[in-house]
Amino acid sequence: MTDPRPLVLFNSLTRQPEPFRPVHPGEARVYSCGPTVYNYPHIGNMRAYVFADVLGRTLSYKGYALTHVINITDVGHLTDDADDGEDKMEAAAAARAQSIWDIARHYTEAYWADIAALNIRTPAHWSIATQYVPQMIAFAETIADRHCYELPSGLYFDVGSVADYGRLARAQTEEGSGRIDEVEGKRHPADFAIWRKTPPGESRQMEWDSPWGQGAPGWHLECSVMSGALLGFPFDIHTGGIDHREIHHPNEIAQNQAFCCAGSLTDPGNSGARVWMHNNFLVERSGKMSKSSGEFLRLQLLIDRGYHPLAYRLMCLQAHYRSELEFSWDGLAAALTRLKRLVMAVAQARERAGDAAAQPGSKFADVLDRFDAAISEDLNTPVALTVLDEIVALKKVDPAEKLAAIGVVDSVLGLGLLTLERADLRIRPKAAVIDETAIDAILQERRAARAEKDFARSDALRDNLSVAGVEAMDGDPLGWDWRPQ
Ligand code: AMP
Ligand code: ZN
Repeated sequence: MTDPRPLVLFNSLTRQPEPFRPVHPGEARVYSCGPTVYNYPHIGNMRAYVFADVLGRTLSYKGYALTHVINITDVGHLTDDADDGEDKMEAAAAARAQSIWDIARHYTEAYWADIAALNIRTPAHWSIATQYVPQMIAFAETIADRHCYELPSGLYFDVGSVADYGRLARAQTEEGSGRIDEVEGKRHPADFAIWRKTPPGESRQMEWDSPWGQGAPGWHLECSVMSGALLGFPFDIHTGGIDHREIHHPNEIAQNQAFCCAGSLTDPGNSGARVWMHNNFLVERSGKMSKSSGEFLRLQLLIDRGYHPLAYRLMCLQAHYRSELEFSWDGLAAALTRLKRLVMAVAQARERAGDAAAQPGSKFADVLDRFDAAISEDLNTPVALTVLDEIVALKKVDPAEKLAAIGVVDSVLGLGLLTLERADLRIRPKAAVIDETAIDAILQERRAARAEKDFARSDALRDNLSVAGVEAMDGDPLGWDWRPQ
């Protein structure tokens, strides 16, 4: 028997693809930077979790026992990553005259709803930052003497105290990292607050006692502490969006180096994680992704317009995670059509297979091997999807075996192909002012008008539907007679 193909992942830290070698044999421990719950996530944020989910599913498919942690940042993330501005949570609470705790609960639940809608597997732990403050203080105390200094505004990390600070950011650009904030007294412009003191005379909704006075932890400290506490240093893989390569992750790495004592980077374990992976951005040219623009691109907006959320997941998978992906409604519509075709093909195979169950036999060996090659090559989901198309198109094969092969591929892609029904994919757009029975009645009338060659009437009925947010479709190859506009 030949050795199983290794899983190769691109490590941002070394800027190279590397075969995955777990720290603990047979296990994979993964930490993903989670959302700051001061607002709804936009669909770009959700791309980061679709990517982390595909990574986790791939590790499971490759036989590793996965422990995945995603954190919830409910304190400490400032309006600017570079240590500047207000706490996002405090600012949202002040703007809406609500308690921070209510805001955190509401947006955490909204985020979890998006996670479920996108078929993202629940991680082993959702680590909530405010529940780890004692550990954060203990971590900061451990590194304070050798690596930190106190200023009136907080406890600052001295980036000159660790070897090769900013290596992760420099691995991407010669110049290295992004903007930094000027605070009077900082030894180096890139030094950052790991504990932020509440300014005298002010009070915050969230503050804790610490050796450095009342205050709140820094966002970078939170991720170092929660990842180390739940996964143990060094763990295998740390993920986030590419924006985190510039400031957040270099700062986490610096803290981890300090905590792991050696301060050096010669042992990759001293970075906290051996592999750092970053998804590229979802972009939208007109700026609708920005949460500060009124109607921003939330998953619910896509659903309100009649798109199944898994069409968005498929759209993400059509691009490699390290490539930029441009969002467009046309692109989303095309992804929905592709998803429909897959679901229809599964329905046909299921009809033919009846109750029979099977394992994919020799006729599927080649395609499943090519699927394995694609996903093992730094999670090449676009190629994996074309292999899935091939499996679906295979003729003269046992339908139960075909379903089993689709099941193997979908255990990684997570499109829910074995459970989605054709009817699930047709979501009534929020703007539609009529229900399905009324739509069917109007379509029936329109068919009668066309049979009588009364095209004026047929067009008028189509226009009525259009006003109601529904597009009538003639001769759709998939057998759909309407779709949301
Ligand atoms: P935040 O809630 O701002 O901390 O972001 C949550 C996650 O989404 C982080 O991993 C970010 O790097 C990532 N992210 C932010 N914007 C985008 C985007 N437009 N496309 C993909 N990922 C993003
Ligand atoms: Zn983080």
